[in-house]
Amino acid sequence: MAAPTAPASPASASLPPADLIVTGCTALLHADPDELDPQRAAEGIEFRPDTAIVVRDGIIADVTDSAAASRMESVERIDAHGLVALPGLVNCHTHSPMVALRGLVEDRPEQEWFNDWIWPIESNLTPRVVALGARLACAEMIRGGVTCFADHYFAMDVIADVVTETGLRANLGEAFFSSQEAGQEASQGASQGASEGVAQGSEGLARSLDFALTHRGRADGRITTSLAPHAPYTVTAEDLAATAQVAREHDLLVHLHAAENRAQTDTSLARHGRTPIDVLHDTGLLDVDVLIAHGTGILERDLPALRAARGRTGIATAPRGYMKFGWDTTPVRALVDAGVHVGLATDGAASNNTLDVWEAMTLTALVQKQTEHDPRWLTARQALRHATLDSARAVGLGDTVGSLAPGRRADLVLVDLNGPHTQPVHDLAATLVHSARSADVRTTIVDGRVLMRDGRLTTVDVPSVTGELSQLLPALVERGHGKRIQEYDT
Ligand SMILES: [Zn+2]
Repeated sequence: MAAPTAPASPASASLPPADLIVTGCTALLHADPDELDPQRAAEGIEFRPDTAIVVRDGIIADVTDSAAASRMESVERIDAHGLVALPGLVNCHTHSPMVALRGLVEDRPEQEWFNDWIWPIESNLTPRVVALGARLACAEMIRGGVTCFADHYFAMDVIADVVTETGLRANLGEAFFSSQEAGQEASQGASQGASEGVAQGSEGLARSLDFALTHRGRADGRITTSLAPHAPYTVTAEDLAATAQVAREHDLLVHLHAAENRAQTDTSLARHGRTPIDVLHDTGLLDVDVLIAHGTGILERDLPALRAARGRTGIATAPRGYMKFGWDTTPVRALVDAGVHVGLATDGAASNNTLDVWEAMTLTALVQKQTEHDPRWLTARQALRHATLDSARAVGLGDTVGSLAPGRRADLVLVDLNGPHTQPVHDLAATLVHSARSADVRTTIVDGRVLMRDGRLTTVDVPSVTGELSQLLPALVERGHGKRIQEYDT
């Protein structure tokens, strides 16, 4: 239970200079990053003033006080007086290139959104659009204090290159379906699309595995990978079972959509007599590390299976999109009680409009109170816990990031709470969750490298990205070809 306090030891005098010291901040520390009981863990969040974070080789070497740090040598020093240091936020589920479709289709139900707009448009994707979209997405996330994201899309090798160049951390999965929508085959071969010939069934799984094994550990270890079947309604039980088998053999996370909304669960029950979570259980996916996007259609009858998988299941909740589609929200309280790691997410910007995990944190706190009719549930400290350690756990990085503790990767953000909308501060947790916004993040650091310094991005040139992307948009949104990469039928 020892808090990560480590006064400078005499031995530190003989160490080579640190790479980076962030000094003078108030730091959010988890009293026990390994505490699994969410309530106790939330109570264990501490804000320690006048703290210094010492970074060596991309790792937090020491969390000490500013006076001790002033006696240490460092290649780089960031004066963070007046700022709050948090573990970087983790976006547990997104489709980063979909920022290219931000705001294109609004006020439609999900069937229409998928079948008439998104899946026809995604048949136009090119590697260049994916690269530019991912770059814009990374810029948005770095600005908003996100240091790690779990991405589920096509042409993931292109996105891996963007992750390498922008400096973020990511878990990447190459998506696949079991079968293509019938109308598409006739028109195949006409384009060089990034989603063209999205591999299906066993071939899709093989390609997803090939991507996962080829890219795992790249970008100096910042890239981890997963297998990425799309969802139980687009991937057969046979292919899901094969995915579980392959995940077990290669020790890989499986990232998929499931029980996205209540209608999917009802359709699954009507057609198969099983809920989507039953299907995950039956196919062995609850016996491996699995990251489930959304789960707003999870029922009480699903909880025992999730409880039995204790510690191996993460769920990404992205409340903004659920509100827009008029869905219920993720049953966070029941899932937490069942031992599921609930992380925060934005989904793609085509439905969510932003990749703002800070906003997801605020909305989660608010929507959970409203849904549970309980103002005492999902406190600001619990929300901070979901945004940091629980999100890290959900994407399989619970031992690596999510906490400002010695030995963890140096992924952190500095937040300025001096604005009129965040003053005065009576309760720092409440200020962070209910008053602060992602725009209050001033500095974003991943693996000890500064990706945004006092509001300025260091690895992405946004005007050049948006300039080129805007020229590609007319071809991207063309729907006259009648193609569609998949059909939403649930
Ligand atoms: Zn999604």
